[in-house]
Amino acid sequence: MKIQKGDKVEIIIGKDKGRSGEVLRVFAKSGEIVVKGLNLFKKHLKPTQGQKGGIIEKERPLKVSKTMLICPNCQKKVRVGYSIDKNGDKSRICRKCKSIIVAAKK
Ligand SMILES: [Zn+2]
Repeated sequence: MKIQKGDKVEIIIGKDKGRSGEVLRVFAKSGEIVVKGLNLFKKHLKPTQGQKGGIIEKERPLKVSKTMLICPNCQKKVRVGYSIDKNGDKSRICRKCKSIIVAAKK
């Protein structure tokens, strides 16, 4: 996966096009991610003991292909490339400014 948890992405297709947010979860198998505050759907909650019912908004996973990474260095929507250093370690790089992209670890 080119997108990792903690990355900032912008949605490029659909109703949330142009909006950006932080990646909260990554589902490698389905190629989907959850972005904080984006691709929301309304969920109706039934009242239960001790809790009022109501409507909450929750993020729904969306396809990685509908998003682009925002480079933490140049702040642009970029394509992600890979570079392999002399130790054989693979890092993600920004194809625009060539800086190494490190996912914000939480
Ligand atoms: Zn960059």
